[in-house]
Amino acid sequence: MAEEEVKAVKPGVVQLPYRWAIGEAGLKFFQGMKNKKIMGTKCPKCGKVLVPGRKFCTTCFVDLTDWVEVSDKGTLEAWTLVKYPFIEQPAKPPYIIARIKLDGADSSFYHYLGGIDLSDLDKVKKQVKIGAKVGAVWKNKTIGEIMDIEYFKLV
Ligand SMILES: [Zn+2]
Repeated sequence: MAEEEVKAVKPGVVQLPYRWAIGEAGLKFFQGMKNKKIMGTKCPKCGKVLVPGRKFCTTCFVDLTDWVEVSDKGTLEAWTLVKYPFIEQPAKPPYIIARIKLDGADSSFYHYLGGIDLSDLDKVKKQVKIGAKVGAVWKNKTIGEIMDIEYFKLV
């Protein structure tokens, strides 16, 4: 076999459509979203509230059945400005993905941070600070999905 043949690379596209069973905890969480409520589960052993709510504590491995509503306001823990497009991207860049600790939760929640002019990174950095308070901007019509919250905004 010629060396050129071994090094030959052909571009390709692999599509992998799938459906994901959200399970009992996912169902309860998204039912909450439909009612503009963010639901978590509280661990009876360590007392942590995990959001989105889940079936077991990721620290203690005990079953979680105590559902609690947390605030749709919280604190910005981290953020990144996405400027470049990639395959299956959820939004058209530029946009900010933020890690948010909702008031009443002990885990972090990821969502968009919006309502900010992203044309000048220096201005963005002056505006968007770790520790800033943020609040959810809900859609008028909710259907029980994560994008029932359009984005979080600085408050
Ligand atoms: Zn626990």
